[in-house]
Amino acid sequence: MEKRDYYEVLGVAKNASDDEIKKAYRQLAKKYHPDVSTEANAEAKFKEVQEAYEVLSDQTKRSQYDQFGHQAANAGFGQGGFGGAGFEGFDFGDIFSAFFGGGQRTTRATNRPRKGSDIQKRMTITFEESIFGKAEKIKVPVYDECHVCHGLGAESKKDIKVCSQCGGSGTVIMEQQTLFGRTQARTTCPSCNGSGKEFINRCSNCNGEGVEKINKEVEIRVPKGIETGQQIRLEGFGNKGANGGPNGDLYIVFEVKPSDKYIREGDDIIVNVPITFAQAALGTEIKVDTVYGPVLLKIPAGTQSESKFRIKGKGAPNIRTKQLGDQHVIVTVVTPQKLNPQQKRAFEELLRVEDEASPQKNWWDRFKSNFNRS
Ligand SMILES: [Zn+2]
Ligand SMILES: [Zn+2]
Repeated sequence: MEKRDYYEVLGVAKNASDDEIKKAYRQLAKKYHPDVSTEANAEAKFKEVQEAYEVLSDQTKRSQYDQFGHQAANAGFGQGGFGGAGFEGFDFGDIFSAFFGGGQRTTRATNRPRKGSDIQKRMTITFEESIFGKAEKIKVPVYDECHVCHGLGAESKKDIKVCSQCGGSGTVIMEQQTLFGRTQARTTCPSCNGSGKEFINRCSNCNGEGVEKINKEVEIRVPKGIETGQQIRLEGFGNKGANGGPNGDLYIVFEVKPSDKYIREGDDIIVNVPITFAQAALGTEIKVDTVYGPVLLKIPAGTQSESKFRIKGKGAPNIRTKQLGDQHVIVTVVTPQKLNPQQKRAFEELLRVEDEASPQKNWWDRFKSNFNRS
């Protein structure tokens, strides 16, 4: 669509004064404000009016527009060769915040659609739940559309007027004295706080905000194989968007409670199993717990402490491929701390038969023979 001339849009002469431009803008903004207008294409026309006013109400932009037409706007006014006023590419809002601590930032068109803010929530699950997944309904405190006025903010549509201070744009131009002299900056309209609206009777439930905080019930599907610190995103389950913008998103960050039995390492699960001297020396078959139930594991004769055995396919599911990792079993040969008389006799007998083959004894014998030789 061909862009219309800004003067034509506002219906003013090329040499119109600032006051004439302002007056024309206010009338048109009231006429086309999307919330109240019955005109066809009100929103598009309102935007057109706003854009024209934004340029023609600004001395620098207006003079650039007079010289270069819409090209000046396309080039971003003052960037890429236009301007030449000495402050090329400067945003006065940034200068204000640099010198005055950010209290007077330039804000523009705060009544245009904005996405709602995101919400982050932690969810603690057990080790088993992290393996098998689960579905759980939780309550999330979220700003949602007011159930009384359905987002209107007022008791009825008749209670909404266009803000008389900003003409519905949500922003006003303020003259400010700065280190660089007097400058003009566009700031949020103090009267309507940027909404562009004025209420006669506010909604008593939300006090005109159009939103209220509720505890929204959300079903969370915990993915199989999730680990601590990983998150899922539920699109649109965050806070309500403003001016028809989309809702924010809900992020669930998971924390897996440590298991007293299992340790996860990547997609593998590690368990520690104690065995006795006799089991290690003679070999045996032991029952080992996995998250999927107990399995039998063969321990060969002569197994050393801290030996590792693998049970295939009994690990955690990979979060993406869902392929199962393995379970690693680390066996620890445990020295008994208390012996009953029968065990004591058995160990004494073991010690007696071992005596001849003792590694210490062999060492002593070698030492003695070496010593004797010299
Ligand atoms: Zn309400
Ligand atoms: Zn206002």
